[in-house]
Amino acid sequence: MPDSRKPSIVAGDVTRRDFLAIGGAGALALLTRRLYAAEGAAGGRKPNVIVILADDMGYADVGYQGCKDIPTPHIDSIAANGVKFTNGYVSCPVCSPMRAGFMTGRYQNRFGHELNTGGAPHCLQEHIGLPTEETTIADVMKTAGYTTGVIGKWHLGAHPKYHPLKRGFDEFFGFISGSHSYFRWDQPKWSPIQRGRETVKTKEYLTDVFNREAVEFIDRHKAKPFFLYLPYNAPHTPMQAPKKYLDRFGDIADKKRRTYAAMVSAVDDGVGMILAKLKELKLDKDTLVIFLSDNGGPHSSNGSSNKPLNGGKSSMFEGGVRVPFAMQWSGTIKAGSVYNEPVISLDILPTAAAIGGAKPPKGRKIDGVNLMPYLGGKKAGRPHEILFWRRAKDYAARKGDWKLIKKKDTWRLYNLATDLGEKKDVAAQNPKVVAELKGALTKWESEMVDPKWIAVYKKKRRQRKNSKAK
Ligand code: CA
Repeated sequence: MPDSRKPSIVAGDVTRRDFLAIGGAGALALLTRRLYAAEGAAGGRKPNVIVILADDMGYADVGYQGCKDIPTPHIDSIAANGVKFTNGYVSCPVCSPMRAGFMTGRYQNRFGHELNTGGAPHCLQEHIGLPTEETTIADVMKTAGYTTGVIGKWHLGAHPKYHPLKRGFDEFFGFISGSHSYFRWDQPKWSPIQRGRETVKTKEYLTDVFNREAVEFIDRHKAKPFFLYLPYNAPHTPMQAPKKYLDRFGDIADKKRRTYAAMVSAVDDGVGMILAKLKELKLDKDTLVIFLSDNGGPHSSNGSSNKPLNGGKSSMFEGGVRVPFAMQWSGTIKAGSVYNEPVISLDILPTAAAIGGAKPPKGRKIDGVNLMPYLGGKKAGRPHEILFWRRAKDYAARKGDWKLIKKKDTWRLYNLATDLGEKKDVAAQNPKVVAELKGALTKWESEMVDPKWIAVYKKKRRQRKNSKAK
């Protein structure tokens, strides 16, 4: 509890004036609510949770991972003030399935959300989206009294039944599809920018708008615990940035890299604005802030870098699934911590639920793990003995230093301790390891279901091929 912040959640706060103002029953309800809230992990108010998700940002493109040409002082400060995960993974190397996993704390393959949904408005099919039977992280946090908001790119289904306001979020500002122009809000090829369900019109740079909306959300809900999910579409294509950001990178000759740098810099500014607002409101010790990218950088399409990792977006190599991943909770997580055991985006839901006193949904397997006991040293060992990935015909598993990948019907094995760049396939030399990991994958897969839809771009390609054949 920050010194100057009034401890608003104590039973003694229900005063004689409360009784007079709202009556005995109302005051009793208030007392109950405050006592309930007082059970929060910090002993005072329940901690807020902010999840900041970059889109298609490379593993190597933050200062704290060694990036030299794009300063990211604010993202770096999350790692410096808290913990950086050197083996931080996402559950799929492309946008939409990763989000489905994060939203539920479950491997998205459990419910068929294995492939990208494609974007709105052309993808309004009723069966394409995060299944409504699934409970989202926002649903979970709401059960513990949190106000919930999402600002940015949704990409979990364009049909109205998948709208964020139907998936546990009290507030939504952003767009439903998988990508968006940063300048043109008025072209029908992009889904509209919405506040709630109302279309908003402006000509501002989209990342600047998301930055401002995030700060305003925090200001608006500062009095009570909130959960803010901020999925930027930057630095996903189209590559667009205004002069004020491009001017910071006049020394980068490559035009795409320069634009990418400008887009990342705009996100970093937003992170800085959020952290400054938390400090101003004296909420920094009451807020868990998580930063990660939704998948690895796609290299040539946006100018990102995943060095020294192999592969990128869409790939089961480390460059596709290992991402910048850091979190801070001032006063609770030791500043400057480094955590080297594998963690995954699925862990965010159980971690947020635990610190917020919320219960994850019953009757279904949650694959994520509450990370706090591991960071505080209360639990030894690894949060996950083994991690799995499946996307169409591509598979991967990681156990210890071993990484097994199936690509184009070939199984490959890499030792990440000696070969982080996954250059030397050692499957032939380690048949027992291959057999063990294949067996584990087969067992895991028996719990998964088939993809509920095929990737929209593949369907289009097939349609084009068929029409040509005719
Ligand atoms: Ca992405």
